Amino acid sequence: MERETLEMDVVFVGAGPANLSGALHLARLIKAHNEEVQAGKREGTTLGEIEIGVIEKGSAVGAHILSGAVMDPKALAELIPDFIEQGAPVESPVNDDYFLYLTKKHALRSPITPPPLKNHGYYIVSLNRLTAWLGEKCEEAGVNIFPEFPGADLLYSAEDAVIGVRTGDKGIDKEGKRKANFEPGVDLLAKVTVLGEGPRGSLTKQLVQRLNLDEGREPQVYSIGVKELWELPDDRYPTGRVTHTLGYPSDTQTYGGGWIYGMQNRILNIGYVTGLDYKDPLLDPHAEFQKFKQHPYVQRLLEGGKMIRYGAKTIAAGGYHAMPQIYADGVLLVGDCAGFLNSQRLKGIHSAIKSGMLAAQAIFEALLAGDYSAKQLQRYEQSVNESWIIPELRKVRNFHAGFKHGRWMGMVNAGLQFVTGGRSWGVFDRAKAEPGHVEMKKLSAYGYHGDNIEQRYNGLRFDGKIAFNKLTDVYHAAVGHSEDQPAHLHVLDTNICSTRCAEEYGNPCQRFCPAAVYEMVDDVAGRRKLQINFSNCVHCKTCDIMDPYQIINWVTPEGGGGPDYKGM
Ligand SMILES: Cc1cc2nc3c(=O)[nH]c(=O)nc-3n(C[C@H](O)[C@H](O)[C@H](O)COP(=O)(O)OP(=O)(O)OC[C@H]3O[C@@H](n4cnc5c(N)ncnc54)[C@H](O)[C@@H]3O)c2cc1C
Repeated sequence: MERETLEMDVVFVGAGPANLSGALHLARLIKAHNEEVQAGKREGTTLGEIEIGVIEKGSAVGAHILSGAVMDPKALAELIPDFIEQGAPVESPVNDDYFLYLTKKHALRSPITPPPLKNHGYYIVSLNRLTAWLGEKCEEAGVNIFPEFPGADLLYSAEDAVIGVRTGDKGIDKEGKRKANFEPGVDLLAKVTVLGEGPRGSLTKQLVQRLNLDEGREPQVYSIGVKELWELPDDRYPTGRVTHTLGYPSDTQTYGGGWIYGMQNRILNIGYVTGLDYKDPLLDPHAEFQKFKQHPYVQRLLEGGKMIRYGAKTIAAGGYHAMPQIYADGVLLVGDCAGFLNSQRLKGIHSAIKSGMLAAQAIFEALLAGDYSAKQLQRYEQSVNESWIIPELRKVRNFHAGFKHGRWMGMVNAGLQFVTGGRSWGVFDRAKAEPGHVEMKKLSAYGYHGDNIEQRYNGLRFDGKIAFNKLTDVYHAAVGHSEDQPAHLHVLDTNICSTRCAEEYGNPCQRFCPAAVYEMVDDVAGRRKLQINFSNCVHCKTCDIMDPYQIINWVTPEGGGGPDYKGM
């Protein structure tokens, strides 16, 4: 197939906070260098016109961005010191912090907020809006942004150096044939390609496997956050209040907790995180969130309000021990796809921004040296190690792993780490670290018969007022995918679904997917088979992570498809 080739200098894949900060910082470094050389203030030659591109699979910058979000502003303040004066769309400074332990009926407020959950000096933001604003800053600085352009494949030289990215084809029908509007993807060639795809990036996954970038590291582990925005009828929850919860509805073997943040205009931002290393095969993260909202304390906050937005996304929680090598020939990894999120604080925006800036500095030096090899780009890893990112992650390096033994051991471990600066207390054998899906037990281990979720969620009712079923929620994620395209969820062996998986786990994809993409239905002969409603997909990547047989491969759909997370 004839493909257009476009030569750029640097291509950033994914318009998240990490890459947009990287692209902006790089454009400024180059501009300052060129101006100073021209003015005789700096030795050397100018770099000339350097073409910087950012590609994004969503319909616009921010469309696929979903976060909490309470932002530690320290990195944004390094990138744009007067970000408030320049109109960064922050909702509110954090005014007060609540930490609640929920029993089934009661909410017990802790007299002290655990230090990692103290948010004084931080800001509640809509990361969707903040990202769109960063996108504008990039464009003002001369960065080319291409929404609706998914990175479908990496391009490699004969020596396995990354030399760019191929964007996805458009106009292929569900049988794989070309439609009238067919447009082949473009080969974007670059001296350096930066992957900032967020958690479980589809190109990052390919790259890490191909170049063994995770050799000697622990497998990454993930959580999923399921979130809604609510319009409240009155001022019952103040703007700027941050509440975190522990306890109900998670069982003590499951890592989980809730958040409730007060945004402007009586908008309540509410969500629930569940560790994707849960054991119960009938667990459903979306149902956990619905139960959370039906807790008497939470329900009182929501009554009379209106749910206006929904979304779900995974979080890379493995931290320090699970970071892959973040550079190779012609390529760098930034933000969540490099594993920089601090899972104890549930914060990754600051490190995403910082890592983008450090990547920009390393690329700038590589451009000056005319060398894009791993040896030169290793400078990026060095600067990450020398920055505050690594000390911050080292201090919490055993946090998530501590919960492998349940909530109470996890809490004790977290407390101990706080005192010891990150040392684990020895119950967790790092050599036995496993990816989260391995933790899921079979139905028989729980005494379950079949996949009827009533066995776990007895009494959960989707009343359409406080609790919603997945389809209603998906409608509020404003998801759109052309139906006439090949499914972007590749199930490598569907026989397993109707046989082993049905018997052993009761097809958990029907439950761990927060968007009702996977459904077991009867075929004409009455046999159970998997139906993939891919157009519901919110791009959270949970299926790629949590499938017990690891036979689901999430690839990018046609550009522009997916959720539209306005205001999330
Ligand atoms: C539920 C939840 C709550 C959170 N709460 C907080 C919080 O309160 N505070 C905090 O600091 N952090 C929080 N985080 C983490 C924070 O959102 C992330 O650390 C941060 O967004 C990471 O930025 P990033 O740029 O690395 O990736 P992302 O924000 O994930 O952005 C990646 C972008 O790349 C695009 N993309 C991916 N693959 C491709 C491809 N192949 N081609 C083209 N485009 C692609 C995506 O569409 C997306 O726009 C939370 C995360 C979640 C999910």
